[in-house]
Amino acid sequence: MAWSCSGRTNAELVSNLLGAKLIYSQRVADAMRHVDRAYYAPNMPYQDSPQPIGYDATISAPHMHAHAAENLLPFLYEGAKVLDVGSGSGYLTAIFAQLVGKEGKVIGVDHIPQLVELSTRNLKNDNPDFLNSGNVVFVTADGRKGVPEHGPYDAIHVGAAAPTLPKALVDQLKAPGRMFIPIGTGLQSVFQIDKDKNGNVQQQELFGVRYVPLTDRRS
Ligand code: SAH
Repeated sequence: MAWSCSGRTNAELVSNLLGAKLIYSQRVADAMRHVDRAYYAPNMPYQDSPQPIGYDATISAPHMHAHAAENLLPFLYEGAKVLDVGSGSGYLTAIFAQLVGKEGKVIGVDHIPQLVELSTRNLKNDNPDFLNSGNVVFVTADGRKGVPEHGPYDAIHVGAAAPTLPKALVDQLKAPGRMFIPIGTGLQSVFQIDKDKNGNVQQQELFGVRYVPLTDRRS
């Protein structure tokens, strides 16, 4: 079903995702229209499937990016602070930057330096203002530990599967705040982790997925 959303242009891809109700918010549709996937997935940018970007990483399928943005949307207000763990191609980092606007800040973290260089290059070609203004910062680090020096965060997106919920990431969520994270080895599900204004944490299992795992970096 999902790949029926593929399009010939970025606009057609977004309109197909809207038609399939995988995007249902105007703000997500606008952000995905603004960020052309051709800068991040040059081979088949408008195909609704994951694609290799090197170093055992893949850029996730457009419908997964749509799910993540829709799920985190209540926390992606103008001026919000966001952490994108396993930022890979930088595509979703750019979407978040689009959503949180000029007063917002998005930190993309990946443990592969070459992917951090790739995402920086991609964003420079797409929208250099995000980097020049400091609205987007890419960091090379183990994302399982979060990036505490820039936190806490209104929203945390994790783009690779963790065996269990990393405590450091929960600690770096604002109260209130929300995390979207695939958890599991073998069978995986996306979990929505909500911290309320009193700091109470609740988790909700959303749907089954197949993500690459969060790993130690091979030297
Ligand atoms: N959101 C990205 C997904 C990339 S795939 C995109 O759509 O382009 C998952 C990414 O997680 C890879 O780039 C991989 O290098 C990264 N990753 C895996 N383990 C990690 C870890 N421990 N810390 C940070 N990044 C990690």
